[in-house]
Amino acid sequence: MPEFVLSPNILVVPILIVLIVLEFGLSRLMGRSVYSFQDSITSINIGIMSQFVNATGAVISAFMYAVIEMKYGTFEWNLASPVTWIFALLLYDFMYYWVHRTGHEVNMFWAAHITHHSSDEFNFSTALRQASTGFYFKWVFYMPLAVLGIPVQVFVVVGLIDLLYQVWVHTRLVGRLGWVEYVLVTPSNHRVHHGKNDYCIDKNYGGIFCTWDRLFGTYADERVEEPIVYGLKKKLHSWNPVWSNLHYWSEMFKKAGEQDNWRNKLMCFFAEPAWSADGNSAPKPLAQFPATDDFFASRTPLRVKLSGLAMTLFSVGLLVFYLGSKQSMSAGLQIFCATAAVCSFAFVGYFWTQGNKKELQR
Ligand SMILES: [Zn+2]
Ligand SMILES: [Zn+2]
Repeated sequence: MPEFVLSPNILVVPILIVLIVLEFGLSRLMGRSVYSFQDSITSINIGIMSQFVNATGAVISAFMYAVIEMKYGTFEWNLASPVTWIFALLLYDFMYYWVHRTGHEVNMFWAAHITHHSSDEFNFSTALRQASTGFYFKWVFYMPLAVLGIPVQVFVVVGLIDLLYQVWVHTRLVGRLGWVEYVLVTPSNHRVHHGKNDYCIDKNYGGIFCTWDRLFGTYADERVEEPIVYGLKKKLHSWNPVWSNLHYWSEMFKKAGEQDNWRNKLMCFFAEPAWSADGNSAPKPLAQFPATDDFFASRTPLRVKLSGLAMTLFSVGLLVFYLGSKQSMSAGLQIFCATAAVCSFAFVGYFWTQGNKKELQR
C-alpha cells in the first residue's frame, strides 16, 4: 500500500467544493441562474482529469526547471527575503501573460487552451476546466526565471499562487471593483476574457495583474450595455472531458491535411486560429453564428445527471488518493493511473453525451 502524504493540492479540493456550493447557493438566493448541471459536472471532471495528467506533467516541468537552474542559474537568491518572492511572482505572472497570449494567438497552443473556454457558463466550476494537453510546452516560457537562478521551490510556490488566484475571478456574482480594475485581474475583466462578443476576442490575458494587458494593448473593460456571451463561437456538443481536450487537435490536423503545400500546412499549426489560406484571417463576427442550440436546450435525462454526479464524487475520492500516494509510486504506476483515469472519462463521457443526443432525437 503506497504511503499517503497530505500535499497542498489535496487541501485545495475541499476549498473548491465549498466555493462552488457557496456560489451556487448565493446565486439561487439572488434569483440568478449561473450554473447548469451537466456543464458544471463536465468542468469538474475536466479539472480532475487534468490533475491526473498534469501531476506527472508538472514533475517533468519542475525537473527541467531544476536542471536549467542548476546549470545556468546566474544569481543567488535569499529564500528568507520577501524581495525574492515578490520579484519571482511578478516575473512569473509576466511570463504567464505570454503563455496565455500564445495560447490564444498560436493555433497549436490554442488547441490545448481551448478546453478552458469550452463552457457556455462562467462560474467557479469553469475555473477547473484546465487543459490536459498543455504541460509539454508551457514550462519553456518560464525558463527566464531558471536562468536568473530563482530556486525551483520558489517557482513551484509562485506558480501555485498564480493558479489559485485565478479561481475567484471566474464568477458573475461580483461586479466592478473600482480602482482594483486598474491593477489586478478581477471577475469583471476576466469575464471579458471568456466572452465571445466581438470586443472580447483576444483580450485580458493576465493571471494576477492586468498591468501587462494595459502595457501591451490587450486590455478591454467590461461593457455593461453589451451582456457577455460566454464560450466558443463553434460550440462543443459534448460532455466528454477527453473530447473537450482533443476536438480542436483533430480539427487542426484535418485543416492541415486539406492544404496543398507545406507552408500552408505549417501555418495551420503556427499561425493564429482564424488563419485561412485565402488570406481572410480575421475572426468571424459573433453575429454569423447561431445564438440558440438544440444540444444545450434539450433536457439532460435524470439517469445521465445521476451517473455524472456519481462518477464525479468517485473521481474526487480517487484523485485525493492519487495525489496523496503518488510520491511513493513508481513513474510507471503514475502513468498507468493517469492513463486509466483518461480512459474512464473517455468511456463515461461518451455515454453522457449520447444520453443527451438521444434525448434530442425524441
Ligand atoms: Zn484564455
Ligand atoms: Zn478563465
